[in-house]
Amino acid sequence: MRLIIEARVEGGEARETDATIVAVVERKDGSLADLGLTLAEGRALLAEVQAFLVPKQTAGWMKSQMACHRCGSMLAHKDARSIVLRTVFGKVDVTSPRLWACSCVAEKGQPRRSLSPLCKAVHQRVTPELEYLQARWAAHLPYRQATELLREVLPLDKGISFGSTRRRILAVGSALDAQINRDIASGPKPDSGEQVRESTTVGCVSVDSAWLNFSSSPRSRKAERDLAELKSPWAQKLTRDRHVNIVAGRATLSDRTPRLYAYVHKLVPSAPARLDQFLFASGVAPDERVTVISDDAGEFGKAVDGSQLARGRILDWFHIAMKFKAARNSVFGSKTMAPHERIAVETEIDHAKWLVWHGKGRQSVSRIKAMDATLLAKEGYEYSTGLR
Ligand SMILES: [Zn+2]
Repeated sequence: MRLIIEARVEGGEARETDATIVAVVERKDGSLADLGLTLAEGRALLAEVQAFLVPKQTAGWMKSQMACHRCGSMLAHKDARSIVLRTVFGKVDVTSPRLWACSCVAEKGQPRRSLSPLCKAVHQRVTPELEYLQARWAAHLPYRQATELLREVLPLDKGISFGSTRRRILAVGSALDAQINRDIASGPKPDSGEQVRESTTVGCVSVDSAWLNFSSSPRSRKAERDLAELKSPWAQKLTRDRHVNIVAGRATLSDRTPRLYAYVHKLVPSAPARLDQFLFASGVAPDERVTVISDDAGEFGKAVDGSQLARGRILDWFHIAMKFKAARNSVFGSKTMAPHERIAVETEIDHAKWLVWHGKGRQSVSRIKAMDATLLAKEGYEYSTGLR
């Protein structure tokens, strides 16, 4: 059997057309081998429909641009060029007519000007949706994988490249950064009075950091040039440093939805201002305070201590678990303990951890103190559990 998909235009500003075949799908009778449209057929169909629709839309729109905006007289046609528009469903070639500027705007002694309304209207030559998709997926995946993913599901074979995805996310990053700096400069200021209360919108914020490596293969030298093109001061710095320390935070809002923020440590003018801006943007009022959960690494210790909206800092679950693990490991490596003693200490550590996990922090601490006291009293025993 054959499935024939046709498209035609009717109504509106575009010229009505007869049906045009946009796709023919052939399937073997009596077989379920190719059930439904394949990915390739889906991509081709979307690309065909887009290539059919976009020129009709631009041609229809051009009709509204043929008269002078000042005096209403019709403008003379000069010539036409073909321009390429990038959309989520592929690159589309459209005709962009050039018109002679109206005599009512002509200046004496100046050569006659021409104008290209379509080029002016779509000067980026890319639809916002495609920019959004590239930025969104490149924020979640490596640029190359994000590009491959989009190419696999959409007819974007030549429509996007690794480089364009990277440039897109760098541009989005710069715009976000500029917006945050404007917010810091002009945003609300925290109340410094005594009358502060726990935030009702943000439950807590968890902050952690990680090191990222900058490789120096030829590909990334191209990346460095792209960064340099952005001409932002931090981009210049990034090309010199081979490692960057990323600080990332996650706020849990009262309706349980998360909000994220991140920055490169040392590349922001003020980490505390950044944290406060994030909390304000998450809905914290100037007289509210938020508890921050983090480990005690220096890079955000300063951010939290300097922040005016953050109240205190507590260790997060992950780092608490790490401390218990380190204590257990130290027991395992101990040469001064007999095997039966080691098992007893390990069991004690597990119990202490269980107590923490079940909200019985105080009981856990007293058990650990008691265990430490017993162990430290022993001859030849150098270490405490380190849990205190
Ligand atoms: Zn005119």
